[in-house]
Amino acid sequence: MKIFCVGRNYVAHIQELKNEKPQEPVIFLKPETALVKNNAPVYYPEFTSDLHFETEIVLRICKEGKYIQPTLADQYYDAIGLGIDFTARDIQSRLKAKGLPWEISKAFNQSAPVSEFLPKSAFSDLSQLNFQLLVNQEIRQTGDSSLMLFSFEEILVYISQFFTLKTGDLIFTGTPEGVGPVKIGDQLTGMLEGNLMFDFEIR
Ligand code: MG
Repeated sequence: MKIFCVGRNYVAHIQELKNEKPQEPVIFLKPETALVKNNAPVYYPEFTSDLHFETEIVLRICKEGKYIQPTLADQYYDAIGLGIDFTARDIQSRLKAKGLPWEISKAFNQSAPVSEFLPKSAFSDLSQLNFQLLVNQEIRQTGDSSLMLFSFEEILVYISQFFTLKTGDLIFTGTPEGVGPVKIGDQLTGMLEGNLMFDFEIR
């Protein structure tokens, strides 16, 4: 399976990292070894001293497709989850400054914890999905899918021009503002439309 991620999909987050607003979605991938499930703890990597959370809505692909047509795009994902796109911000900043690919700052082991998935039918309006991250019970990030630059469908259509989507692939759809560092011992809790989605510890 593949894990796709969208960068710079919320205006306020683009501004906080002083990035430019993209004309088309910014896409990168994480390998399967990035995945963490079932609220397993995430171990703080040795190579960074600035591990950041980025809380994101995650789509689960349910059908193989390439060159997906916009009007059919919503048939290619059947479930919604919540995840963290963990980022070694110190490494990413260093590589970005040199114009180099920042793969190692984003795609390392355990960089993609994800919740269980809820069927799309569990939500009344996918274009208005509210989500939150709490760190040690304090709200640190609040987002809403209505604030995305590129919709779920636009992201699917775009990715499928370059990569064949397969059943079970995941798409992280970008983070809102408020990203920040974690430390060992922190408890990260994710909420989506009032549902407890994940609750895990940094060790
Ligand atoms: Mg992200």
